[in-house]
Amino acid sequence: MPLRLARTKVPRGEEYDVVIIGGGPAGLSAAIYTSRFLMKTLVVAEQIGGQLNLTDAVDDYPGLKRITASALVQAFRSHAEMFKPTIVELVRVEGFERDDSSGYPRFHVWGTRKLDVYAKTIILAVGSKRRKLGVPGEKEFAGKGVSYCSVCDAPFFKGAEAVAVVGGGDAAFEGALMLSGYAKKVYLIHRRDQFRAKPHFVEQAKRTPNIEFVLNSVVVEIRGDTKVRSVVVRNVKTGEIREIPVEGVFIEIGFEPPKEWFQRLGLETDEIGYVKVDEWMRTNIPGVFAAGDCTSMWKGFRQVITAAAMGAVAAYSAYNYLAEKGLYRPSQLLLA
Ligand SMILES: Cc1cc2nc3c(=O)[nH]c(=O)nc-3n(C[C@H](O)[C@H](O)[C@H](O)COP(=O)(O)OP(=O)(O)OC[C@H]3O[C@@H](n4cnc5c(N)ncnc54)[C@H](O)[C@@H]3O)c2cc1C
Repeated sequence: MPLRLARTKVPRGEEYDVVIIGGGPAGLSAAIYTSRFLMKTLVVAEQIGGQLNLTDAVDDYPGLKRITASALVQAFRSHAEMFKPTIVELVRVEGFERDDSSGYPRFHVWGTRKLDVYAKTIILAVGSKRRKLGVPGEKEFAGKGVSYCSVCDAPFFKGAEAVAVVGGGDAAFEGALMLSGYAKKVYLIHRRDQFRAKPHFVEQAKRTPNIEFVLNSVVVEIRGDTKVRSVVVRNVKTGEIREIPVEGVFIEIGFEPPKEWFQRLGLETDEIGYVKVDEWMRTNIPGVFAAGDCTSMWKGFRQVITAAAMGAVAAYSAYNYLAEKGLYRPSQLLLA
């Protein structure tokens, strides 16, 4: 989706019941719920839509058989706007800290373009970047055969002669197994000959006749014209170069949540760097909730529907937190 210029004035000095950091599926879903709870809501997003901006179509969101990703983003956004939260985009939240000057618990939140506000609660929905290979052709063919999400995009490769999956963890194996049902041939490319993936995935992949392992090999280039046509690999032991004709390259080499940033904010993270949450999306900081791909919840399954579900739960928890603290004052303005 093309970037839209932020028309909304960046707020300064205002206090909100909730500041939602992130405008992807988790953040916008949270905004629908917090606004319907009549909480004064501010959404701050660097880019509305988040990871959905990296893909063309979505055909696994219940009720919408197939929709372009940009139309889905617009649907989320306009649904949220119906309940009148303030949404500011092209603004990056740089930090927040506890502010006790008001006599009740709240946070001071600041960011780029002089964002400077107060929040009684925060919902962190900043997503997580997928790790890239950094090879020629990767960027050029993103969305034209290069994918970072096998479970999302495998069905688009139904009947393909061959595809490649890069990685050696659970996501790579899950992807290869799923793709083996859609494509005629699946190459699983891994830089070592040992795998991090769970043994049952590895065993099942070995027993699947149309999965071929390309081990001790790294991708050096992805080639094509209007779309991907082949992947070039180098054997790290022999130095041999091999060009494999494929129609798709699925890069499943992990995620990069902003671990250091989370830790600087005082948030507890897991070993990878995801924000630790409980089943109500509460973080270790009272009043701060997290939702979507940035959390430790449902780690192996990152989808629009799971992110949206977490956003809804985080909104409900933020509302409950305010109610329990006696800080919930339904904003009549939102009814106007
Ligand atoms: C190529 C691709 C294809 C996919 N296809 C599908 C599919 O078909 N079906 C499906 O269900 N899922 C699909 N997914 C997965 C899905 O897009 C993600 O699981 C989902 O977007 C996660 O939502 P989120 O809101 O947690 O995070 P994100 O979508 O990553 O959104 C994060 C938001 O936070 C903002 N942000 C980050 N840091 C800051 C900051 N400091 N200050 C302000 N804003 C910030 C970002 O700009 C963005 O608005 C796909 C993912 C990719 C990459």
